[in-house]
Amino acid sequence: AARRVVVVGGGVGGCTVAKYLRKLDPKIAVTLIESKPAYTSCFMSNEVLSGERTLQSLTFGYDGLRGYGIDVLQDTVVGIDPETRQVQTAGGRAFGYDACVVSPGVGFKWDAIEGYDEQIANQSIPHAWYAGPQTQLLRNQIKAMPEGGHVIIVAPPNPFKCPPGPYERASQIAMYCKHHKPKAKITILDAKDAFSKQGLYIEGWTKLYGYGTDNSMIQWVSAAAGGAVEALDPSTRTLSGLVEDFQGDVVNIIPPQKAGAIAFGADLVDGDWCPVDKRTFESSRHKGIYVLGDASSAATMPKSAYAANSQAKVAAAAIVAGFQGKTPDDPTFVNTCYSVVGEDFGISVAAVYRLNAETNTIESIPGSGGVSPANASPEIRKREVSYAHSWFKNVINDMME
Ligand code: FAD
Repeated sequence: AARRVVVVGGGVGGCTVAKYLRKLDPKIAVTLIESKPAYTSCFMSNEVLSGERTLQSLTFGYDGLRGYGIDVLQDTVVGIDPETRQVQTAGGRAFGYDACVVSPGVGFKWDAIEGYDEQIANQSIPHAWYAGPQTQLLRNQIKAMPEGGHVIIVAPPNPFKCPPGPYERASQIAMYCKHHKPKAKITILDAKDAFSKQGLYIEGWTKLYGYGTDNSMIQWVSAAAGGAVEALDPSTRTLSGLVEDFQGDVVNIIPPQKAGAIAFGADLVDGDWCPVDKRTFESSRHKGIYVLGDASSAATMPKSAYAANSQAKVAAAAIVAGFQGKTPDDPTFVNTCYSVVGEDFGISVAAVYRLNAETNTIESIPGSGGVSPANASPEIRKREVSYAHSWFKNVINDMME
């Protein structure tokens, strides 16, 4: 009988693994179960906040995957039984599998900030850390804010999805405000003392938004300087920190994160994330189940779309090798994260990774990557923006078209 693979979650990891399984062996029956009717990508969603892009331009249906012979179903997986090898859905269906791949993305720790909860996020203090209605709400709030208004972004502790994302978000909001609300201020209240591509962001903010002067549009408050916040008063949009309080016209709290709910429901976690064998991405807790992308514990790779895409190909090859009774090869992985700091000003960080089988860790190959050069020419900065946009088209194409 044909081997059956059930994929849980039609995001970057899930779509890529489904497509590559079929490309590697078209005899495998692949079922992809996803809660939503279409995928709206988080990557590039900060450009909705500057008005450079619409949410619609980030939304893609699953017909491309159906064209590869993948059975794509809209339903929510509520349980995975590793003994009987069955997946159960909220719609009351059950699917048997030979291998199950889980790529559910992140969930949020709603109780981390007093006074903040999921309902408040939906109604008035959006996280917009999944692209969708909250992204539009945040965009509308920024547009409606008075001239000279104050936007506060609360950045989460590590690890979280898209380490450069909160800082790209501040940049994109500044890019809009520079033209439409030049007296606006954007404050990042951070739970950390350092962040991804910090040197390059600060270079960009200094050049574009007056960073470091009294007139800077963006200010960053590290945890040590009082940026870690403990409570929110949603009625006045006031955040209380250890040193002082901060009041905003628009508040965007990006909550601390953990693996998506099904990872907890299916007993795949150790703490907040899912431990895996880094050679195959098979769960260290249950044989036959593979966990990819943001939900997996894959340090030193970041939680990014590029990383999920790269891990999915490694897992697809390992699953096919396993079905053929072969040992999977030593994997390598790749990641690049672009950020658009302003008009014609892009920056990036890249790495190629290999497995250290002895320690079961993924390590960056020395000399393989790094950040883009400091004080680069305007031509290079401009080129990085076009690289960012072509990367977006390429990854969507690679995962689902
Ligand atoms: P996701 O892509 O989040 O997909 C998870 C899917 O699973 C979702 O569609 C969800 O509906 C579904 N699902 C969850 N549970 C169930 C269930 N029980 N049953 C059925 N379906 C379920 N990465 C980059 O590489 N470059 C960037 O420039 C970049 N920019 C970003 C900007 C922002 C603002 C944000 C928030 C993220 C950004 N990322 C970027 C990160 C990237 O979006 C994620 O790392 C990537 O989407 C992870 O893929 P995934 O498969 O783990 O999860």
